[in-house]
Amino acid sequence: MPRFCPRCHGLMKPVKEVDGEVYMVCIRCGYKMKASSNDLRTYRVSTKITHTEKDKTIVISEENVNLPITKDVICPRCGYGEAYYWMIQTRAADEPPTRFYKCRRCGYVWREYE
Ligand SMILES: [Zn+2]
Ligand SMILES: [Zn+2]
Repeated sequence: MPRFCPRCHGLMKPVKEVDGEVYMVCIRCGYKMKASSNDLRTYRVSTKITHTEKDKTIVISEENVNLPITKDVICPRCGYGEAYYWMIQTRAADEPPTRFYKCRRCGYVWREYE
């Protein structure tokens, strides 16, 4: 069952916040409430990451993917020293894949420039 906003009856979407909690957010008025376990069963919570237009839009379903963690990087935004990482082939197949990082503390995503 989709959930509707108690304030304006707009459709609500699950959004994963930086603190790791999932909230239901109204797409019309922005009303926010904590998601129940029922909501989590109904919706697949995903994190959408958009880089430059050359790169693909990368959608990581955090339900299904257990990303490895590295302690060899520093978050450019908050300075935290642990991040998830993954590799994606963004260019020609004969070039090495690009490595992406996602900060464990603030959720910031950046790519490795070689
Ligand atoms: Zn609303
Ligand atoms: Zn960070």
